[in-house]
Amino acid sequence: KSAASVYKTCASSGSGLGKRYLVTGAAGFIGFHAAEQLRARGDVVVGVDNFNDYYPVSLKRARAQVLADKGVPVVELDLNDQEALQELFRLCSFTHVLHLAAQAGVRYAARNPFAYVQSNIAASVSLMEAMRLQKPMPALVYASSSSVYGLSKRFPFTEDDPVTQPASLYAATKRSLELLAHTYFNIYKMSVTGLRFFTVYGPWGRPDMSVMAFARNIVDGKPIRVFQGPNNTELARDFTYVGDIVNGVMAALDSAPLSADPKSPPTYRLYNLGNTKVHTVSEMVQTLQELMAMKAMVKYQPLGATGDVLRTNANITAAHAALGYTPKTDLREGLREFVKWYFEYYGSDGKKRPADEVGYVPD
Ligand code: NAD
Repeated sequence: KSAASVYKTCASSGSGLGKRYLVTGAAGFIGFHAAEQLRARGDVVVGVDNFNDYYPVSLKRARAQVLADKGVPVVELDLNDQEALQELFRLCSFTHVLHLAAQAGVRYAARNPFAYVQSNIAASVSLMEAMRLQKPMPALVYASSSSVYGLSKRFPFTEDDPVTQPASLYAATKRSLELLAHTYFNIYKMSVTGLRFFTVYGPWGRPDMSVMAFARNIVDGKPIRVFQGPNNTELARDFTYVGDIVNGVMAALDSAPLSADPKSPPTYRLYNLGNTKVHTVSEMVQTLQELMAMKAMVKYQPLGATGDVLRTNANITAAHAALGYTPKTDLREGLREFVKWYFEYYGSDGKKRPADEVGYVPD
């Protein structure tokens, strides 16, 4: 069924001259929004996702259904399946690959360290192999993360800062992905753009991340765990609204040189995509409870060796200059959009949960 819908989707791009996008991790939070946005402007988009159960799968299925209804098939496929991938590339001859599939989160590594190697390193190599075997080679835009800055105290983080002190396995595998992508540019002249996202939030968000996990606990009247560093330092994040991230992603895709075009040589690029306005986690909770009109119970807890860093802050000068990237959504406005979606999806009391979300507790 999915092969047929992929074929139909790709064939709809006519003579093969149009742009065709593969979005990996399309049933994920950011992949869903990016695929939806590409489709909204009329592009041919195919998604892939392995629908793994790192967080409740019903949410991934719901996102994929929304995409399918809009004409974006999401093929269930693990990127490590080289044969299936090559078949997909043969079928569609993609012009662009937006690689967002990953094992995200930092704390899950304590339970499943191999998932990071498999999904962020091995699967990425599998994808880039399928890409380089396709002629002409598609352009790659992939997700990296602010976490690569690790324990760095050089605020705001800038792309040419040394990134040699990862604080988590997640960060180490994302840095590996950057190096691998750079290698595919060096060896195969693949057009490559890496985007280091900073704590993304918004509608259809991730239940393992703070904004959504806290919203659920607020609804349930359960305490919220806010981590503190040494001397009660508050954790602070450069929270970035998903709509702003997607605008940056679109600009990166649109400006990527295509190897089919002899006039534009392939480039290697790497940009921060953040908001630049840093908020403490407590400030985020404060705003969230106001917008939900419910009370949060906050319990402070020492950070320990979770892999979380104390503070993130993006310098976005490079993305602004090259992509025109300009985040427009402040935390309150972005959280308002999130809360609106939350009560639409989980009902007016916020408690209408699919079976696999009942009792779900993130790491
Ligand atoms: P997500 O977990 O919601 O989405 C990732 C998707 O990839 C999931 O649906 C998962 O099922 C899929 N996937 C994982 N391994 C796969 C494999 N081997 N084959 C096929 N599919 C696979 O995460 P997200 O928040 O949407 O993140 C998207 C990208 O952005 C990821 O690369 C993530 O590391 C990166 N990122 C996210 C944030 C953030 O704050 N959300 C911050 C920095 C970087």
